Amino acid sequence: MSAADLVQRWIRPEIQALSAYHVPPADGLIKLDAMENPWTWPEDMKAAWLERLRNLDVNRYPDPKAAALGERLRQAMAVPADMDLLLGNGSDEIIQMLALALRGEGRGILSVEPGFVMYRMIALWCGMDYVGVPLRAEDFSLDMPALRRALEEHRPALVFLACPNNPTGNLFAEADILEVLDRAPGLVVVDEAYAPFTDHSFMSRLGQHDNLLVMRTVSKLGLAGLRLGLLAGPAAWLEEIDKVRMPYNINVLTQESARFALEHHQVLDEQTAHIRRERSRMLAALEALPGLKVWPSEANFLLARLPGRATALFDHLLKNGVLVKKLHGSHPLLEDCLRFTIGKPEENDRLLERVEGFVHG
Ligand code: PMP
Repeated sequence: MSAADLVQRWIRPEIQALSAYHVPPADGLIKLDAMENPWTWPEDMKAAWLERLRNLDVNRYPDPKAAALGERLRQAMAVPADMDLLLGNGSDEIIQMLALALRGEGRGILSVEPGFVMYRMIALWCGMDYVGVPLRAEDFSLDMPALRRALEEHRPALVFLACPNNPTGNLFAEADILEVLDRAPGLVVVDEAYAPFTDHSFMSRLGQHDNLLVMRTVSKLGLAGLRLGLLAGPAAWLEEIDKVRMPYNINVLTQESARFALEHHQVLDEQTAHIRRERSRMLAALEALPGLKVWPSEANFLLARLPGRATALFDHLLKNGVLVKKLHGSHPLLEDCLRFTIGKPEENDRLLERVEGFVHG
């Protein structure tokens, strides 16, 4: 039997039907596709960081609980003192741990769409049913009648709500999230990946609802390369989920580097404040362009629609050295949509110039 025959026979059909997560090449391009912080660190901070790394012993396994880093994260993210913390190799790994801990016959994941694609992906990898309830087309708010019906019908083990939502950038109404918490039979995870760019959070509500967990990441804050996410919530939940965590999932370099970065959080805070200012500037400038619809955002990106010409605009930007995210074709509510990550002022200017040239051309 050839390898292809063996694969055909043994790899699960739903995995064979997938395409691998595609990351487009970005060499030499202005990279505005992946919600990264565009800035690195000042030279003296880099030197101090390298000095810290010099003292690490990479021959030893890392601290399995990453206790010192955990303490730093608690402070940085205002995790309530009576709540537990669980760390993941990116919040992607945390989504996977949640699915592994809750999966089973008749247990599904529910989220809203358009939303973060990994909820669906990981449900599929773990053999769980997935239900995506469409958001309201006008403003991407939660469609509560549809959500009530879906919760009633599917009784999901796990609900994910990203707030602010990716790729739409909006917050969901607090009252709606509270109603979901009330009605959901299982766990509700509020994914606050974009917390650095909004003043709203459910973190302080932990403990008030027995089924609420809050997930965060340091990726959008400026540390995407470290791969570090966290889940906060009642110990009763996290102690169970911790049982499916890979031993030593947070490597020594990440533990030390993230600690170091959070000790210098004012550098990261200035960067995120700058991104917020640039977001307002870009929203106003893009909104003024003819034919382009742009939605307000509480995240570090803007969603824009250009009826009938989104693919052409994407190609035009790419030809001119700017990589953005093409969402057209990924979901009916994202027809003719592109997503622009907020970059450095000069990168944003370049994007603006090119979009302007295109819509006027
Ligand atoms: N949640 C949301 C809503 C996201 O948009 C992303 C990344 N795009 C993640 C989680 C994953 O973040 P991480 O880099 O921590 O895996």
